[in-house]
Amino acid sequence: MPKDHRPETKDQPWGALLDMDGTLYDSMPHHADAWKKMADDNGIVADRDEFFMYEGRTGASTINILFNRQFGRDATPDEVKELYGQKSRNFRAMPPVNPMPGAAELLRFLEAEGVRRVLVTGSGQSSLISRLDADYPGAFLEGMRITAANTEHSKPHPDPYLKAMELAGVDAAHAIAFENAPLGVESAARSGAFTVAVATGPIPKEALYEAGAHIVYDSMPQCAKFFPQLFNKIKSLVFSL
Ligand code: CA
Repeated sequence: MPKDHRPETKDQPWGALLDMDGTLYDSMPHHADAWKKMADDNGIVADRDEFFMYEGRTGASTINILFNRQFGRDATPDEVKELYGQKSRNFRAMPPVNPMPGAAELLRFLEAEGVRRVLVTGSGQSSLISRLDADYPGAFLEGMRITAANTEHSKPHPDPYLKAMELAGVDAAHAIAFENAPLGVESAARSGAFTVAVATGPIPKEALYEAGAHIVYDSMPQCAKFFPQLFNKIKSLVFSL
């Protein structure tokens, strides 16, 4: 019997690489409120919604954007420490964040399809990371997570997504990333993964397309509803290569 080389791609596993804040958890409004309160408490002029755009930046980088705009200079390390400490305390004082509606449904679909799931977060918030198993049981197998601790470079560098592909044992042609913020989208798109963006906050869809998203959904429930048919299309495209 002649050996058929073509179906090789068919047998290759697929990987779904999922961001956490703003994608699996509705945590961004809390972060924005925590930043805005810190700014207000220190006489720094800021718009609450601008903090959605900074998602994925380090605390120091966000503080320096505010400082340069208002004072024309970077914050000192002591100022960063103090102000980021205030922001973190504000965040912790808020009510617990909820899982993003629609995310469990999406994860169940991926699991049913045998897609390997990896969490990709720059967050060091152990409180949310440790809730994952309770909120999304079975969605992420042990060790299938890339956090700030596993990557040398943070988003928008492609490193976190490249590491996640390694972990999933998939190549970029078989990787699909799920993100909600421009810097995360940029990181995913630069890694070569098919990049699904979900506009779960006030960020305009155009900004997510500009960052490199291949498709943008209006919400996670919409993504959960329509991604399955997109996935079938992507699979048939890759198979026909
Ligand atoms: Ca995010």
